[in-house]
Amino acid sequence: MSEVSTAASSLGEAAALPGGHSVGLDVGGTKVLGVLLGPDGAIEGSVKLPTVRGPQGVVSSAAQAVRSLTDAAGLAPAALAGLGLGVPGLVDPESGSVMHAVNLGIEGEPFGLAHELSALFGGIPVDVDNDLNVAALGASHAMGPDGQDLAFLALGTGLAAGIVLGGQLRRGVSGAAGEIGHIPINPEGPLCACGQRGCVETYASGTALSARWPSRFGRPAPAELFEAAAAGDSEALRIRDEFAAAVASAVRILELTVDVRHVVLGGGVTGLGQPLLDVVRSALVAQSSTSPFLSSLELEKRVSLAPSDVPVAAVGAAIAGRRKVS
Ligand SMILES: [Zn+2]
Repeated sequence: MSEVSTAASSLGEAAALPGGHSVGLDVGGTKVLGVLLGPDGAIEGSVKLPTVRGPQGVVSSAAQAVRSLTDAAGLAPAALAGLGLGVPGLVDPESGSVMHAVNLGIEGEPFGLAHELSALFGGIPVDVDNDLNVAALGASHAMGPDGQDLAFLALGTGLAAGIVLGGQLRRGVSGAAGEIGHIPINPEGPLCACGQRGCVETYASGTALSARWPSRFGRPAPAELFEAAAAGDSEALRIRDEFAAAVASAVRILELTVDVRHVVLGGGVTGLGQPLLDVVRSALVAQSSTSPFLSSLELEKRVSLAPSDVPVAAVGAAIAGRRKVS
């Protein structure tokens, strides 16, 4: 049931990484996306297979993905320099335990995912992290030396950023670094799931956008909204521009906090492509228009879309796995 590809693809000026091959897995609620990264940081193989839910289901899905990739390359899993996994949930990156990942069916007791997989493959280093953090690492890697200071801003169900500074992930003492979706920007705004009012996330997430412009024709709500706006629908234009302004606010918050070279937009909403980037850039220019200080930062030039041809979360997981000291 898996699709394996061994076609090598270049990541451009991939930064040099410490020895050997590594595997990275982006473990989602429905599928596992895996890559085999070569010693030079290039993608040497990829695989996609369905996720089996529950702790043992996730272990077996991950193990199957690893074996598919190593078999196709003629490698033994135990010879890997490392294995990394990005999961949608709360993770203790030190121990590699998953505390809570509702989409994977892992709840209740912390589950030692890294430990189980390492034992299965002869004790290789295994890193387990949040999918947003590994996506930030992968985006940084894909940009080469220019990507050492970067934020990966995911516009999905919620809104949050993974932050890479000097090539290293910045998690913060409680793992909350980059949780900018919960910065309130309007004290009178709607109640947020976090218990505060008017959080950025209530304006700038995919969920917020779909709530304001529900899908009418069975296609993704953001696509329908942007098409209606492009066709001149005044209500769609207003909602689109308010959304763009909120995303621009999130970019501004990130830049004024960590001043990174790149803010890379990722997550489901970025399926919109260039039209999304255009309106966010316009909103950044508009927000800077009264401020020579903000204008001097040229924020509109620092924002970009995640590469559509690189599975950044899987690549970042492979890098994290290789860096892991067991
Ligand atoms: Zn909130």
